[in-house]
Amino acid sequence: MLLGMSEDLLITADWVLPVSSAPLRDGAVDVRAGRIHAVGLAAELPGGEAARRLDLGSAALLPGLVNTHAHLELTALRGFLEEQDFFAWIRKLTETKYETLDEDDLLCSSRLGVAEAISAGITTIADIADAGVSLAALREGGARAVLYQEVFGPDPSRAEESLADLRDKLESHRAAGADRVTIGISPHAPYTVSTRLFKLLAEFARAEGYPVSVHAAESAAEGAFVRNASGPFADYLRSRDIEVEPLGVSTIGYFEEIGLLATAPLLAHCIDCDADDLRRIAASGAGIAHCPKSNATLAHGAAPLGAMLAEGIRVGLGSDGVLCNNTCDLLEEARFAALLQRAGSEEDYPSAGDFLRLMTLGGAEALGLTGDIGSLEAGKLADLCAVGLAAPHLQPVLDVEATVLYSASARDVVLTVVEGEVLYDGKSLARSDPRSLEEPLAAIRRKLGVAG
Ligand SMILES: [Zn+2]
Repeated sequence: MLLGMSEDLLITADWVLPVSSAPLRDGAVDVRAGRIHAVGLAAELPGGEAARRLDLGSAALLPGLVNTHAHLELTALRGFLEEQDFFAWIRKLTETKYETLDEDDLLCSSRLGVAEAISAGITTIADIADAGVSLAALREGGARAVLYQEVFGPDPSRAEESLADLRDKLESHRAAGADRVTIGISPHAPYTVSTRLFKLLAEFARAEGYPVSVHAAESAAEGAFVRNASGPFADYLRSRDIEVEPLGVSTIGYFEEIGLLATAPLLAHCIDCDADDLRRIAASGAGIAHCPKSNATLAHGAAPLGAMLAEGIRVGLGSDGVLCNNTCDLLEEARFAALLQRAGSEEDYPSAGDFLRLMTLGGAEALGLTGDIGSLEAGKLADLCAVGLAAPHLQPVLDVEATVLYSASARDVVLTVVEGEVLYDGKSLARSDPRSLEEPLAAIRRKLGVAG
């Protein structure tokens, strides 16, 4: 299979799952000039004259998967911080990120993350970047992305300085340019960003039109910090002579009060949310990155997915960093989300089709990109993936949506296409060779003090 150039394609498969409409048996997608020209039955779509034919046979062709929350720069820390409580985890992460790893390490880490995502059928990544080097890895790898430049700053007296620093970083991202990457901003979380800085960033984002993403209502410790100015985050800031006040509201209530919710941000996690919080989120038009495996890994609990969907909130799935997930595999994420929903509720739970929607069109909705991606429809960008169905662990296919959701994983992905460019053919990546990362990853292991 030819890799790495945008071309007209006629892709046929035993199943086509457009997501916006019912699955098609023996379907086809006609791709021309990087966009979807038509979707239909293979027998009825002749394809363009110059189109290359790709017959996938026993496979399900889907919209490219949309990962609404990732930290590509931290991919090389997979498995580094297991079994620690959240405060210890985040302290150790911060220390390692700034004191042990340099920009070259974070770039290698991002390259690994992009390679993993593309070979998992992920075509769009909402990436939270601190150093900002993941932009280069995304550009090289050919993935579509929203890169949210992360901002930290718990000391209110330094808020203006943080904003000036952010402006510089955004300027350098703009200069670096990448057609498939939109730039946004991400104030980290209530316990690492002062109210003053949050307000400045909300104003700046609204004035300049930057999309915003923020970690929100992720843990009980965060709730105690915002509501009562108590717990480990408050103690830590006080130890740095930073004043913290009890606010008497939830994180979402706080975001509403300071004008952050008015930017309709993409909220990552939203575990500690009650019915009022969800109503506020729905009314603001904000989206949610639902990260069930990360939430479980960090022992934070389960987010109220059913109630979020019932409120009509735009919800997508997020892997979060592999540091707190171990894999960037949205098929596994969706399966885990579905099983968690069943385990935690006796109410009606969403169908397999609903979860396939979450990892595609739902993600596009959460990112505000439904005009271009999220479903297989004529006119949208040709961002696609295919899941092979021939392997024994996937047979027999009695209900294709249930097979893809409950039996398949990223390892079954046989094709990833972004804008008509085949980036992965089930064996090789078009634009990178993961073997080139072996040496820099070995160097990172040594820096982390891991032998071998
Ligand atoms: Zn995160």
